[in-house]
Amino acid sequence: MTDKEPQDGNSSESKPLGLTRPGRLELRKTVESGQVRQSFSHGRTKTVQVEKKKKRTFKRTHAGKMAEVSDFKADVIMASKEEPVETDAVAAVPARELTEKERAVRARAVEGALKAESEARVEENAAESATVEIDEGILGGIATDAQPGEIAPVVAESETADSKDKEGVDDVAGLVPSGPVTLDDRADQVSPSSTEVKSSGRKREEELQAQEEERSGKAKRKSDGRRLSIDRRGTQQRRRSRKMTVVQALNEEERQRSLASVRRARAREKREAQDEVSPLEARRIVREVVIPEVITVQELANRMAVRGGDVVKTLVKMGVMATINEIIESDTAELVVNEFGHNAKRVSESDVEIGLKGEEDLSESLVTRPPVVTVMGHVDHGKTSLLDALRDANVAGAEAGGITQHIGAYQVEPKEGAKITFIDTPGHEAFTQMRARGANATDIVVLVVAADDGVMPQTVEAIQHAKAAEVPIIVAINKIDLPNSNSDRVKNDLLQHNVILEHVGGDVLSVEVSAKEHVNLDKLVETINLQAELLELKANPDRPGEGLVVESRLERGKGVVATVLVQRGTIHSGDIVVAGGAWGRVRSLLNDKGAQVGQAGPSEPVEVLGLNETPNAGDEVVVVDSESRAREVTEYRDKVARDQSAVSARRGTVEQMFTQIAEGEVDEVALVIKADVHGSLEAILANLAGLGTEEVQARVLLSGVGGINESDISLAAASGALAVGFNVRADAPARTLARRDGVDIRYYSVIYELLEVIGGLMSGLLAPTVVENTIGYVRVKEVFSISKIGKIAGCEVTEGLVRTGAKVRLLRDNVVLHEGQMSTLKRHKDDVREVKEGLECGIGIERYQDIKEGDVLELFEAKEVARSIADG
Ligand code: GDP
Repeated sequence: MTDKEPQDGNSSESKPLGLTRPGRLELRKTVESGQVRQSFSHGRTKTVQVEKKKKRTFKRTHAGKMAEVSDFKADVIMASKEEPVETDAVAAVPARELTEKERAVRARAVEGALKAESEARVEENAAESATVEIDEGILGGIATDAQPGEIAPVVAESETADSKDKEGVDDVAGLVPSGPVTLDDRADQVSPSSTEVKSSGRKREEELQAQEEERSGKAKRKSDGRRLSIDRRGTQQRRRSRKMTVVQALNEEERQRSLASVRRARAREKREAQDEVSPLEARRIVREVVIPEVITVQELANRMAVRGGDVVKTLVKMGVMATINEIIESDTAELVVNEFGHNAKRVSESDVEIGLKGEEDLSESLVTRPPVVTVMGHVDHGKTSLLDALRDANVAGAEAGGITQHIGAYQVEPKEGAKITFIDTPGHEAFTQMRARGANATDIVVLVVAADDGVMPQTVEAIQHAKAAEVPIIVAINKIDLPNSNSDRVKNDLLQHNVILEHVGGDVLSVEVSAKEHVNLDKLVETINLQAELLELKANPDRPGEGLVVESRLERGKGVVATVLVQRGTIHSGDIVVAGGAWGRVRSLLNDKGAQVGQAGPSEPVEVLGLNETPNAGDEVVVVDSESRAREVTEYRDKVARDQSAVSARRGTVEQMFTQIAEGEVDEVALVIKADVHGSLEAILANLAGLGTEEVQARVLLSGVGGINESDISLAAASGALAVGFNVRADAPARTLARRDGVDIRYYSVIYELLEVIGGLMSGLLAPTVVENTIGYVRVKEVFSISKIGKIAGCEVTEGLVRTGAKVRLLRDNVVLHEGQMSTLKRHKDDVREVKEGLECGIGIERYQDIKEGDVLELFEAKEVARSIADG
């Protein structure tokens, strides 16, 4: 129609004023507008307002009349969309008012349109790539072709027409009516553009029909109506009703996102953003996290600068259920640290010990030092006598009238020869204990063998210990003053134990002495010096002192007194020393004669005053450079000690003993036995002796009459022994200690039973045993006599609890007087099932009336269990 405008303009002179179309008065719109709905993925749509303004311009014609000059470009584009038949008309239009350029553009546009149309026809059913849907509205005619959810032709913006002019209309999109389009034209334009859209047969028919009618100029209103009706069937209606059917919901091209969905998406985005932030941050700040052997979750979090809860979460993910205050191992901690993207730096707390002891000394700095000698031998062979004799001889010789002080070690300075340091605690227990702590202080062992007695079991043990420590032995054959002394027999006996003396071709030196008569003491000293020379004992005195604690005690007025044997370097008064778990500034140094000394060099025994607590014998002593260093080290050592006691070595448990015996690690069952009467004790000891096999022997460390006390337990703990109570019980402090040190206490009331268990232990068989579970202890405060019932003990539960049905033992002074069943348990005259620690209750014992104030009742539950450890 627009193409007619120039014609109108041209022919206006000859034609009468009339309507462009007969029977209808209308104004052509100068502004064409419409909404274009763009579809995106996930059902999102966007409505775009599309507007094209058409400027009407008028020009005076040749006849002097005003006539409208239509928009040239619009004319061209519209013309291009006319049927090919009409194109001829376009071509035939006199181009008087067109410039050359304009004509060329028009021709090109027409040509492009034709080409595009033919292409579009070919692609009719295949086209599907348009991304913008034209919604209802002014271009609704096109939308009618589009099935809901299908792709509608691309809409062109107002510039599209221009771009088409320039590029030629060479694609389907270019066919979209976008220029100034009148309603009348639309149906025509729809035709090619609709080729892009898959249309149902019915709709296609309708469309064709509409076009038909359009052409005949009759059907515009009808067609509009049809479009509207389609619209009504479509989205508008649906929108109005705000109701949805399942089909609609499933096949909904413009389904709006629900508010909840939007919220969810927002929340998800936020979450993702947060999730991204934390690893990002972690990457940003990669920390070096120091991990000690054990660390609490909170501390680990602090070191990573993250929240404790996050660490707990990470642990949970790793399958470790730990609370914030729980201690985790370094392995776990390292995994957590890696999880957070930091670098883990494993350190051992024991690192504080590194460098505590100085470097090895250079050989040129070494100076000969006195030998350290330990005297060993069988009991009563004269060890103490010999040590005293050597010392007395020395004191008498050197400092007459000097007061001898036993500080655990002393030095002798013979008139001829070098100084010798003696460890003043004879016997191999001390020696072994020191060795067990890694302190090999002894250079030479003097083995005392009484000439009248010969080699005895402890002599053999001493030999074994010395050999194990690879310490040379000097044999001192003692008591040669006695008439029945036989040193040759001693020498022969020693041979049997691989101690080959010099005179029979060996390298073991020997001296015949009499401690009592001070015979050959100087010769002994000489021999020791000779041996020391062979050993070439050297140390560097010019360095911070290091040594060993020989013994320590708390002395009134002096505080902690520790005898330290300096091994290398020099300890000065005023030095800061660490001794095991103790530390302090050396207040004063005292030698073995009780004299103040300013310093102590290698192999010198010296009393150190000024430590904050008593160290243990065998602890290492080190001079450190600062108090803080001393604190650091001792705090670590204290912690280790605490941990160890918490873990409890449980060396004395029957099960562990059994395993050790089975594995051949142990060849004796160490026992501490306490019994109620001498008779039973003797019977037990006599029978135990016969229980031993070739491999395993019972070794009674201690036996006695009476309850098991703390000292019994500490002995058992030190030697890994089993504590046995025959009709006696351990007192409360002993029980506590046993729990702490892991000592197993076994109670028996039948000798046969006791022997069976111990025997089974030694032979590698564990008989089925009755396992007792002690549930509590009560103290009898008062005893009531109640008619018909009998004696009722008014008790206070001192430990654990009391439960009905429990068995009871009556203990008086830790000796079992009776074992039986509890008959009554009352609390405030009521029968109760259970009474807890700290509360009072009334207890009756079945068929037993001899209850007295101060008695202790042991409540226990017993059950027989099968042997739990397989035969070794
Ligand atoms: P230890 O148990 O090995 O320390 O032995 P002791 O030094 O306590 O001595 C045990 C007993 O042997 C004491 O009665 C001493 O008097 C005695 N004794 C020690 N040495 C000699 C010695 O050389 N001659 C004699 N006749 N008796 C001695």
